[in-house]
Amino acid sequence: MMNPFDLTGRVAVVTGANTGIGQAIALALAAAGADIAAVGRSPATDTVAQVRALGRRAEIVSADLSTIAPVQNVVDETVDKLGGLHILVNNAGIIRRADAVDFTEADWDAVIDTNLKSVFFLCQAAGRHMIANGGGKIINIASMLTFQGGIRVPSYAASKSGIAGVTKLLANEWASKGVNVNAIAPGYIATNNTAALQADAARNKGIVDRIPAGRWGDPGDLGGAAVFLASRASDYVQGHILAVDGGWLAR
Ligand code: NDP
Repeated sequence: MMNPFDLTGRVAVVTGANTGIGQAIALALAAAGADIAAVGRSPATDTVAQVRALGRRAEIVSADLSTIAPVQNVVDETVDKLGGLHILVNNAGIIRRADAVDFTEADWDAVIDTNLKSVFFLCQAAGRHMIANGGGKIINIASMLTFQGGIRVPSYAASKSGIAGVTKLLANEWASKGVNVNAIAPGYIATNNTAALQADAARNKGIVDRIPAGRWGDPGDLGGAAVFLASRASDYVQGHILAVDGGWLAR
């Protein structure tokens, strides 16, 4: 019987692939057989080297996704260098923190532009290619703040709630065209993004005490969910937001 999780011959674009969750997802997809276009501002040199060490092809595709200017080039360069585009992981994201009463337009726009506008338009560019070439898989990285309000992160909460809307809309429009569109909502994952929280002993304890699994997630904890949503195993899964949170939302 064919392994339904096998990604051999598939080409995956992973944004923000140089570090953290993006790097871990790129490596998990490569371990399952995929070739990787590592997209981002900082060159994902280490990720590319690790993917190649696994025996897969990998290329760096430079793009600053704070605007939508590079999205079509991401698709074109990936197809040009790796011969196709079957999987898109929209992982790149930023956060800005301030009380709602003090929040600035600049911090609103920066987060919405990177976390939501570029996500949609990269879905659009990749989706056009996938629809014209037999289908594909899109995975958008959401958050617990897709489901909860959070505090002091208004534009981040809006962007991650918006990802749910975009994911479901595209799933509706593209299910009949062979494109699966789903999202992963990570819980508290130990990355550069969350280093300050981990370093604050009191807040760290409050977080760990509330996580049913009793620990922070490791970026590698996202790998299985990403491989599933990128593979044939999820062909009938559409518009789903899969929490990988150690039980945080179940509490
Ligand atoms: P990191 O800060 O470690 O990584 C963020 C990645 O996004 C980096 O590769 C960064 O590249 C890239 N990026 C940021 N801005 C841009 C841009 N303008 N253009 C291209 N790439 C950009 O964060 P995480 O790994 O923790 O987060 C990854 C995703 O997971 C984000 O969407 C985040 O919101 C989400 N998430 C994380 C959680 C966590 O607990 N860590 C929880 C829930 C969701 P560069 O190095 O060049 O800046």
